[in-house]
Amino acid sequence: SPVIVWFRQDLRIKDNPALSAAAESGRPVIPVFILDDESPGKWKAGGASRWWLHHSLTSLASDLKALGAPMVLRSGHSASALDQLVKESGAGAVFWNRCYEPHARERDEDIKSSLKARNIDVQSFNASLLAEPWTVKNKSGDPFRVFSPFWRSVRSELDPGTPLEAPSSLKAPDAALPSENLGDWGLLPTQPDWAKGFEPVWTPGEAGARDRLIGFFDHGARHYAGGRDRPDKPYTSALSPHLHFGEISPRQIFAAIQLVRDEIGEKNAEKFLSEIGWREFSVNLLFHFPHFPERNYQDKFDNFPWIDNQAALKAWQTGQTGYPIVDAGMRELWTTGWMHNRVRMIVASFLIKHLLIDWREGEKWFWDTLVDADLANNSASWQWVAGSGADAAPYFRIFNPITQGEKFDPDGDYVRKWVPEIARLPNKYLNQPWEAGPLILKEAGIELGKTYPEPIVDHKAARDRALMAFQSLKDAA
Ligand code: FAD
Repeated sequence: SPVIVWFRQDLRIKDNPALSAAAESGRPVIPVFILDDESPGKWKAGGASRWWLHHSLTSLASDLKALGAPMVLRSGHSASALDQLVKESGAGAVFWNRCYEPHARERDEDIKSSLKARNIDVQSFNASLLAEPWTVKNKSGDPFRVFSPFWRSVRSELDPGTPLEAPSSLKAPDAALPSENLGDWGLLPTQPDWAKGFEPVWTPGEAGARDRLIGFFDHGARHYAGGRDRPDKPYTSALSPHLHFGEISPRQIFAAIQLVRDEIGEKNAEKFLSEIGWREFSVNLLFHFPHFPERNYQDKFDNFPWIDNQAALKAWQTGQTGYPIVDAGMRELWTTGWMHNRVRMIVASFLIKHLLIDWREGEKWFWDTLVDADLANNSASWQWVAGSGADAAPYFRIFNPITQGEKFDPDGDYVRKWVPEIARLPNKYLNQPWEAGPLILKEAGIELGKTYPEPIVDHKAARDRALMAFQSLKDAA
């Protein structure tokens, strides 16, 4: 009887343990992807992720077809869609690679027991982590809550093995199974096409991921340790959406790093690997603390005096805060579906601390607009910036959007690219246009409040207000 391979966040044919195991079984293989907007609840894929998914599935479908087993597309609740497929195909086994989101774990547990109760063989594999979260524990047997000891522990024992080759071919079942049409799923935007800026930047799919990694090793990786904080330079890998959708595995990345270690330099190699480590750490947090995306990890933040300010939230979302580095980041996000990590920290800090808006509003916006939106990384990072997380920046460390811009975008290239209406300002005023006198503004063609906003809050006053709000938590404690 056939084996169903249920694809989820492992949209690749190389180093895919579930697919390889199915191929090795010698049985006909039915690869399936189910568009399930029910089980994730409020965390169903956002707009930018759906754009990515459409293209990634197109690429995977073509690779699977070339191997001999056409992909079947279904939609609806995963459990019923799988049940239906098992019935139609007479499959005797279902293989998948593990997911770690709380809703996915619950879903998979239920499906596993229901299939097993009907004598269907179910096998699950690790395809997206260097270390399974339940295997990484501190000396007292508890999960790590701080990154450095977590990573030291994982790194010291790291031996993920050799990545698997793609199966050389797959046997298809005798009768083709009905498949839905990807085009009918409506994953792509219609009018307005807000994703037109994604196309020149991204090539979703396994080949695109591979090219991105090679390009990174050829260029950015050599500057990574010292330059990864520079949003004006292409020094980071931009692999995050590829990793999220499983178009490349951390094991493949680890193996590739070993080959280029000398070329890119030990320090760069280890720093890059440790960022992959942050991804592992986020999954570790989400696995052990499943409420991370919705609830403050530190309870005391439950009493934080957040402000509900829709106008300020909108200004932040649309890149109209009057702080150029913040606006540049938010526009990069809207246009390309991605934002540089340093700028993510700056814009998140601005929302939480300068505007006193609940971090969950920012998390929600990122969820919808990022092509790499990832429940573990997104929630862990937002709580990190808020100071409410496990291994978090202290709340009172408030990023100054002026000096951050000056330090990490020293020539102003990044701001000028995304906020062209102030491009003609001299560097000295680029991160604080309101400080330029009327003459300079006029020469630069800027009318503050008209062609570019006045700052929506005053930095110093906002900083003091945030510190007071934080103090109120301490006083209450
Ligand atoms: P590189 O520097 O090349 O790093 C390589 C890989 O390591 C990344 O692709 C990513 O998988 C992982 N990584 C790097 N930095 C981090 C980090 N700080 N935390 C966890 N993993 C990391 N990342 C997401 O993948 N999805 C998200 O939804 C997400 N939301 C974020 C929200 C906020 C507020 C902040 C501050 C950060 C967020 N990040 C998120 C983490 C980080 O910004 C991105 O992973 C990184 O910018 C991706 O760019 P890159 O691939 O060039 O990274």
